[in-house]
Amino acid sequence: MVEHLQHYGVISSKKVAEVMETIDRGLFVPDGTPPYVDSPMAIGYNATISAPHMHATCLQLLEENLQPGMHALDVGSGTGYLTACFAIMVGPQGRAVGVEHIPELVASSIKNIEKSAAAPLLKEGSLSVHAGDGRQGWPECAPYDAIHVGAAAPEIPQPLIDQLKPGGRMVIPVGNIFQDLKVVDKNLDGSISVRSETSVRYVPLTSREAQLRGD
Ligand code: SAH
Repeated sequence: MVEHLQHYGVISSKKVAEVMETIDRGLFVPDGTPPYVDSPMAIGYNATISAPHMHATCLQLLEENLQPGMHALDVGSGTGYLTACFAIMVGPQGRAVGVEHIPELVASSIKNIEKSAAAPLLKEGSLSVHAGDGRQGWPECAPYDAIHVGAAAPEIPQPLIDQLKPGGRMVIPVGNIFQDLKVVDKNLDGSISVRSETSVRYVPLTSREAQLRGD
């Protein structure tokens, strides 16, 4: 899978290739789901695990902000795959936090991580996953060098902008039916620069009730 993504130019970073080889996607997809096909897969609760090429794209966009010792937030952490990748990249001196609003997915993501190469980081506490509304971020471990949002927001939630460190970067899909993957950089003077990376299709960042209704 990683070789395929490198061949097609999706992965150009050695570090991202390494981390995606270290964290086995096969441990994070539901039983019976083909893990290495480049497509999103249903994980229940109207949620999906993102396609490998989207995981790779987001890791590359955030690579500079996932250096050892840095703080990373993964909103809508779902299966926990990307949270585990973040934890490997920031290492034991860093902090990787996942926030997911479906408690059953939080529980299964922790089980997935426990089987993966990120298990020691979960045990030592540099990696954690919490149940909560990710639109509020996770203030306890803020400010963050990197914020990833795995579900599409109608607009960029202000608490997430507030929890970004100056010099930090957030990657977030924004829109309803038509969505753009936005790259939000907080400059050292605190001002914000936003650009669109590519068109995407994510499940909505919404309330738990609306998601379970399938709105
Ligand atoms: N990166 C994850 C993506 C999962 S899909 C993965 O690849 O496994 C998006 C996730 O966002 C879903 O699990 C959904 O339950 C969650 N989500 C949607 N709205 C949310 C909110 N307001 N707060 C926290 N999580 C949310």
